[in-house]
Amino acid sequence: MTLHCHKLGAGLPPILRSETADLLALEGALLLDWVARHGSPLNLIWPDALRENLAALREVLIERGVEHAIYYGAKVNKSPGLVQAALDAGAGVDISSLYELRDARRLGADGASLVATGPAKTKAFHEELVACNALISVDSPEELEDLIGCLPAETGTRPILLRLQPASQEKSRFGMKAEAIVRCLTRIAGESRLRFDGLHFHLGGYRWEDRVAALKEAAGLIAEARSMGFSPGMIDIGGGLPIQYVDQEQYRAHLATQAPEDYRTGKVPGSFYPYGGALSSVDWLRRFLQAEISEGQTVANYLTSEGLILAMEPGRALADQAAITAFRITRVKALRDEAHVIFVEGSSFSACETWFASEFLVDPILIPARRSPAASNPIRAYLAGHSCLDDDVLSNRWLTFPVAPQAGDLLVFANTAGYQMDLLENEFHRHPIPARLRVLRDAEGRLMLAHDTIEEV
Ligand SMILES: *Cc1c(COP(=O)(O)O)cnc(C)c1O
Repeated sequence: MTLHCHKLGAGLPPILRSETADLLALEGALLLDWVARHGSPLNLIWPDALRENLAALREVLIERGVEHAIYYGAKVNKSPGLVQAALDAGAGVDISSLYELRDARRLGADGASLVATGPAKTKAFHEELVACNALISVDSPEELEDLIGCLPAETGTRPILLRLQPASQEKSRFGMKAEAIVRCLTRIAGESRLRFDGLHFHLGGYRWEDRVAALKEAAGLIAEARSMGFSPGMIDIGGGLPIQYVDQEQYRAHLATQAPEDYRTGKVPGSFYPYGGALSSVDWLRRFLQAEISEGQTVANYLTSEGLILAMEPGRALADQAAITAFRITRVKALRDEAHVIFVEGSSFSACETWFASEFLVDPILIPARRSPAASNPIRAYLAGHSCLDDDVLSNRWLTFPVAPQAGDLLVFANTAGYQMDLLENEFHRHPIPARLRVLRDAEGRLMLAHDTIEEV
């Protein structure tokens, strides 16, 4: 395994789970064989990682005595194996389309384990959600009317949340202000087929402090709903729990020294995901629960004393360490001076941060195809995909390789399960959709692959 970086002391090696680290360090030949068999890029999935992430969050909630409902934000990755892992571990699933709903149902989810938080539900989606009695977060008074319009005349009560637009999200198109929430409550009071279960919000950004402020706003509305005769039992804080991709000191050092000339574009992107943030999702949750929402009252105390369930829909945080993506190198082409471009088999649609005018600030790992790589000088290169689009670039950041990569070698991006590997994948140039396989061990402990389709999991 060769780690490399742009500048000495400014590298961004990925934090790796031991299974992944061992595979990359010890099983390079196997990985090359898998890519030879299944094509490049190859997405490898570890559903166990999701189970572990879930268990770690639950431990914090149990430790604080907080009743909770964790729903896996399924849009983060298309893997049914990850949805199955969430369901097997007793978690729910947050589904945002008819298709995510149907897949979760085929994997065995019942309505009680489903929540729909997405903002633009169609009639067909509403109808299927109602039919299976899933929890529905209503985004607006308009959506509430559409939902009521879908309810069969004779039906039991259906549980709903109302999505709050906290003050910090004033420019967001999601959720509603306090006044509209109260309007919806008045409407629900006259509708026996709906039951108001509580409030929901989901914020951009990754600060727990913002969730505490939003929870305070929600608490005021919970009290108001109670005074109107409702019995809400839940506050749902959405997702946005952070992942640590790289060491925080290394990340800080990298940001402090990066400069326009570190990018082939001559520009440092305007924003990045906080790849080396200070908090793990577990620490984040602890901080959130310990925070004071009023004099002497923590979030955890508030929830328990009010008898409220804390719901959340982490996507990225549950997918932490659950996948890697291996690209095979097609060609290394000299450009000018020592600059090179490395073409890989695959495209930036399978490593997609550059499409958001940002950059995946995690160094890829080189797996050489030959046992003893040919001696060479270090080279500097950026990474491009195999399409004819000039913008099809996996890394605009110049990477320095101590040993020049060669055609046939692999470049592996770690921790790609969260919105990286398959968010934008498509069949451009009619290249097939990349394979996605689960990594398992057979009875003798040997590594093996299994399909990651609904039929197989
Ligand atoms: C995407 C999304 C989530 C998951 O967000 P993460 O940042 O992946 O945790 C949760 N709730 C809603 C409403 C979302 O749109």
